[in-house]
Amino acid sequence: MFSKLWKNILGKKPIVTNLLILALCGANAFFVPRAMEVISFGNTESLAVILYHSVREDTAHCGKYVLSKELFENDLIYLKENGYQTVSVAMLYDFVNGNITRLPEKSILLTFDDGCYNIYTYVLPLLREYGMRGVVCPVGEFTVNQNSEQKIAYSYMNIDQIRELYESGVFEIANHSYNMHGSPGRTGLVKINGESDEQFKLSVTEDLGKMQELLAGQGIECRIFAYPYGIQNDLSRQAVNSMGFICSLSCEMGINELSRGSSLMDLKRYNRPHGSSSEEFFNGIFGNR
Ligand SMILES: [Zn+2]
Repeated sequence: MFSKLWKNILGKKPIVTNLLILALCGANAFFVPRAMEVISFGNTESLAVILYHSVREDTAHCGKYVLSKELFENDLIYLKENGYQTVSVAMLYDFVNGNITRLPEKSILLTFDDGCYNIYTYVLPLLREYGMRGVVCPVGEFTVNQNSEQKIAYSYMNIDQIRELYESGVFEIANHSYNMHGSPGRTGLVKINGESDEQFKLSVTEDLGKMQELLAGQGIECRIFAYPYGIQNDLSRQAVNSMGFICSLSCEMGINELSRGSSLMDLKRYNRPHGSSSEEFFNGIFGNR
């Protein structure tokens, strides 16, 4: 259904066709009438989303976006011992659409941006060991240019490894753009010199569509988009929201309050830097809840 959707978007069918497809897919919470929120069952769930990037064995290069493997495992132990349960975006979608009335108690969503190779080598086995799950957000250019000599410190996953993560059932896969993450593409969903609003939106839908096709070619269904660097503006939101994603991830920090009829677009996330202990980091988010 979704690969068909991308073909329609890329084929520039009239907008009414796209709207009809989106409505038939039930894929966009924006089509839920406001009135439905008023007649909801009233369960509001608080959801924290955590943003990880790279996980390394050595601590010499740890920092804002690189966490030690030991500290990452401590995070999982902390979450388990304190009763937190990792959820999938599919489950969140079921909740906001009324297919389920509650989320598990102390739900938390773990996300991993950029598709680092160490997610495959370290994080997948650890999430399996602790019975947890997550969302990984690879970049198309990083993935297809990955050669066979991968280094845990700085390489990215190749497409076979991303497919393995998807097929493991441990990970959902998010689109993090094909070539809008810099090196060599533009840095985030931002306009470049002389680009009109319409040209910019077309550039975004074409780039993200190319990533969707890369994933769909591997049998990977991708319904989530993660904004590179969290850079968002009205035009990029319009472009992303026109593509049928059920969820998008920002880098704005904060707790998400979800109830039936809520949108899963622009979910807030907490970046997890190296330095603070698991207890300090999660207490900073949850307080004494
Ligand atoms: Zn990124």
